[in-house]
Amino acid sequence: MAQIKAEERSKNQVVEIPSQVTVRELAGILGINPIELIKALMSIGEMVSINQTIDYDTAAIVAAELGFKVRPAGAPEEAKEEAAEEGALPLWRQWLLQEPPEALQPRPPVVAVLGHVDHGKTTLLDAIRHTNVAAREAGGITQHIGAYQVEYNGRTITFLDTPGHAAFTELRARGAKGADIVVLVVAADDGVMPQTREAIDHARAARVPIVVAINKIDKPNARPEEVKRQLAELGLMPDEWGGDTLMVEVSAKEGIGLDELLEAILLVADSADLKANPKGRVFGTVIDAQVEKGRGVVATLLVQNGTLRVGDVVVAGTAYGKIRAMFDYQGRRVKEAGPSTPVSVMGFHDLPKAGELFYKVANEREARQIVEERLEKEKARQEQRQVLSLEELFRRFQEGEVKELRLVVKVDVQGSLDPIVHAIEKVGEQSEIGVNILRADVGPITRDDVMLAAASKAVVVGFNVKPDAAARKTAEAEGVSIRTYRVIYELLDDIERALKGMLEPEEREVFLGEAEVLAVFPSSRYGKVAGCRVRRGVLRRNERVRVKRGTETVYEGVIASLKRFQEDAREVREGYECGVGIKGFKDYHVGDILVCYTIEKTQVEG
Ligand code: GDP
Repeated sequence: MAQIKAEERSKNQVVEIPSQVTVRELAGILGINPIELIKALMSIGEMVSINQTIDYDTAAIVAAELGFKVRPAGAPEEAKEEAAEEGALPLWRQWLLQEPPEALQPRPPVVAVLGHVDHGKTTLLDAIRHTNVAAREAGGITQHIGAYQVEYNGRTITFLDTPGHAAFTELRARGAKGADIVVLVVAADDGVMPQTREAIDHARAARVPIVVAINKIDKPNARPEEVKRQLAELGLMPDEWGGDTLMVEVSAKEGIGLDELLEAILLVADSADLKANPKGRVFGTVIDAQVEKGRGVVATLLVQNGTLRVGDVVVAGTAYGKIRAMFDYQGRRVKEAGPSTPVSVMGFHDLPKAGELFYKVANEREARQIVEERLEKEKARQEQRQVLSLEELFRRFQEGEVKELRLVVKVDVQGSLDPIVHAIEKVGEQSEIGVNILRADVGPITRDDVMLAAASKAVVVGFNVKPDAAARKTAEAEGVSIRTYRVIYELLDDIERALKGMLEPEEREVFLGEAEVLAVFPSSRYGKVAGCRVRRGVLRRNERVRVKRGTETVYEGVIASLKRFQEDAREVREGYECGVGIKGFKDYHVGDILVCYTIEKTQVEG
């Protein structure tokens, strides 16, 4: 069956191990069966029982044996987030493993549909939805909340259905991170395409089993056997050939093979033994969210554990809210929702992001505190991160990451829209790298424009228009570059230069001063602060700083604290001594040089 093998699951995974851990806990952390772990421990000469505590070293050795990369728990927060990105078990799965086994109840499988564009994802989701849920829909009104449930053979299956993101194969972008099973749609007349491969990669990275739907078999030029061969080459061996991937031939358009597909999904679900604790900690994944007129933020949440209730306070990333009202996928008001149930909820103060983990907290005060801490951390990270500038984009072209210059174009008046779009397209035609205008419209640069640019790695250009406050904020948060112009040839020049890779840097570094570290002191706030003497120029608080050790730069950040004799100072000049605290850095060595600099924007803002 399509169960995930230990070797596959452990590949490239970074896990955090506490200094003392029981065998049961470690199995939970690694996401493997405790018996498997006990066997591995035996193989390194450790005879232990499931409730016995082992130390970090033993745990690290056995985890490494099993193919995991390990790191001691309590490593810096950033490293933790990196680990999460690198493919450790998603947090919701780690949390599920922490529920007491005796409290677990079976839950419906959650299915995401991925595949190449035009291979029939939307049609398939609609077909399944209509044959199985239409009858129950009150007055035939179709609610699209980004997920729905079907009943089949007396069992429930939850489908994630995020049509707004139809172009994305990525699990995160589709809010499909909470999926237990991926249905990979491959058109039988087209075969494996780039996004098919991408979808396989995403499913594997998330360690989610795949069921293949070979679609469009009604077409005369359908070649299902050829598709199977191609998939087998990618390591998805059809079960009929002795492999462990179920492949079902379907026609979403004609409604052929849908029952078989649902059966295959349930088979895979059975072997995955999906469970959750309806009485446990309340958490899940954000599927989708938007602002609706008169209703505020409406978010679709997939509950994965516990029971979510109206009145609960939840946090998702940097958004939080008290749930004022909750609706099921058929638009019916509900008061509570258990595991594997998608609900749309009202009450968030801010837009949560699709793919983000949400969880219940005690009250709004706790929620605010968590969000504030996260915002602060995000800000600190942002200060170190460069915006996705045109020159950065060019670097990505060269490295083959981006194949075209994508633009979102906003202009002030209708009359200038067409001429500008044509002019940009013409510049693009004369270049090797194409220009792709994702959106061209009249009006100020909005948050929505920035979100589109962020999702597609595009740059926003404005002609005689400016970003509004929300757009500016979002651009900062998402690292999207907004460039505004008043003169058309300047705009065209920039684009041409970007395409040729000759663009002048948007930002210029200006040296302010440098100081030498003479001593290192503990600090409650920053971990460590450095006692320094300013050798040249001036050190300024809130300006950027580079920590140099010999010729090597060991850190770049911002001077968060600057003191003269315990007193806060805005700047400290050449020849004077001072205490310096840098956010996120504490590994000072005596002799390090702190170079303080500022960034000047050379870009002309319109
Ligand atoms: P998506 O981009 O993967 O969501 O693909 P769509 O569901 O939008 O389908 C793309 C096109 O393929 C549409 O024109 C559909 O009508 C067509 N299509 C989808 N499924 C089938 C099928 O089973 N048979 C045929 N002949 N066409 C299909």
